Amino acid sequence: MISDIVRVRFAPSPTGYLHVGGLRTALYNYLFARHTSGKFILRIEDTDRARFVPGAVENLIDTLRWSGLTYDEGPDKDGGFGPYIQSERLEIYKEYTTRLINSGKAYYCFCTPERLKELRESQTEQKLQGKYDKHCLSLSADEIQNKLNNNIPHVVRLNVPANEIVTVHDIIRGTVEFDSNTVDDQVLLKSDGYPTYHLANVVDDHLMKITHVIRGEEWLPSTPKHVLLYNAFGWEIPEFAHLPLLLNPDKSKLSKRQGDVAVEDYRSKGFLKEALVNFVALLGWNAGDDREFYYLDELISGFSLERVNKSGAVFNIEKLNWLNFEHLRQKPVHEVISMLRTELKSSDFSSYEFPDNYLAQVIESMRERVSFVKELLTKSPYFFQLPAGYDEATLKKRWKEDSHLLLSKLRDNFVRLSDPTKEDFENSLHNTALENNVGNGKLIHPLRLAVSGMGEGPGVFDIVAILGKEETIKRIDKALSVLT
Ligand code: GLU
Repeated sequence: MISDIVRVRFAPSPTGYLHVGGLRTALYNYLFARHTSGKFILRIEDTDRARFVPGAVENLIDTLRWSGLTYDEGPDKDGGFGPYIQSERLEIYKEYTTRLINSGKAYYCFCTPERLKELRESQTEQKLQGKYDKHCLSLSADEIQNKLNNNIPHVVRLNVPANEIVTVHDIIRGTVEFDSNTVDDQVLLKSDGYPTYHLANVVDDHLMKITHVIRGEEWLPSTPKHVLLYNAFGWEIPEFAHLPLLLNPDKSKLSKRQGDVAVEDYRSKGFLKEALVNFVALLGWNAGDDREFYYLDELISGFSLERVNKSGAVFNIEKLNWLNFEHLRQKPVHEVISMLRTELKSSDFSSYEFPDNYLAQVIESMRERVSFVKELLTKSPYFFQLPAGYDEATLKKRWKEDSHLLLSKLRDNFVRLSDPTKEDFENSLHNTALENNVGNGKLIHPLRLAVSGMGEGPGVFDIVAILGKEETIKRIDKALSVLT
């Protein structure tokens, strides 16, 4: 047994940002770990120096933290299995490579790039699979020592056995078999002394006692190489679970060209972490029913790898928007208030000070109408400033010849109210309509226009009750002076 408790890892390469596919991988690992009371580990796979991006690790950790997927062990959280950054483990990979060389499972290769290129070209010509021809396997011990002494550039390759069936057991896909003859003598240690992904990944999964490797389907073709490596070391093989591809709505592989793929883009657009996590959880998993709205703790209790699908998962942005709406609707008002304050701070309304109970009423009146906190400002700016103007189309439709007179009568009745509630405003408008022998609508629409400048929004009595008597009258006066 690798470990008596489940240990899983999210092992991103820091290439600049966290892809939504990466978030899904992290989430499934997290859910599985929490569901099984296991450990969730963050390991940074940064051995490809060509792809190194400064600041990428910090960005990744920050994004993971924002999403709420807390890890138990990682670069800044030692759990006794560190370092958790591969570039800090180079000596370890060298040591394990030497072990393989000594046991004949791996060998030095001094072939020049030119020779490898020629080999590839002739294989292509003969329509053969591009594979290293084990040329350096026949070097004598003396020849090897000589070349090493002379600092001839070299790599170390895995000596893949011929004619073996390599079996991968995958929780999602079942048993997948590969013919070892199709597996290349994989480079393990590169000429710059850095390990390849394959070596570092297997060594670390072993040393970190990873019990389940949960990762994207794109890594399935690498898995026979990993199995061969485990066998070469004589190590127990972890369970594998390869997650389905993420697809654009046209079923092509999810790409930047068709929309955002970076988690930080969704974050900066104002998506809630609850909604994004909920959405990503459904990209390849369901509980066996058609439920779609989940909180993280519900995902933890419902999650199982057995219920992850094999087929690609379509990224449907409308569903994400809907989930954002739902999660925002369910969010405790004090949380929305603090998010709204952040929005207000960076908006044109920043000079205004609004008390919490005012903002709470604004939020409650708009809950059913917004999918994003930002929309509280764009869809109902009138709660934060005087109407900047009056909507043309609404004016045309709703501002009639008698509107000015009726609105001024309504104003006079409103003035007489003392500390009015929503119902008081409503009764007052109703009485004004009766006194003037008109329907309520003749007053409601001009009133809405006067206080909000718009033709739609929450109930007009909600708006005036939130604004209060003084502000309402001020706005009516302004409208009466502007609109004739
Ligand atoms: N570093 C790989 C990646 O960027 C990890 C793959 C794995 O989980 O084995 O996705």
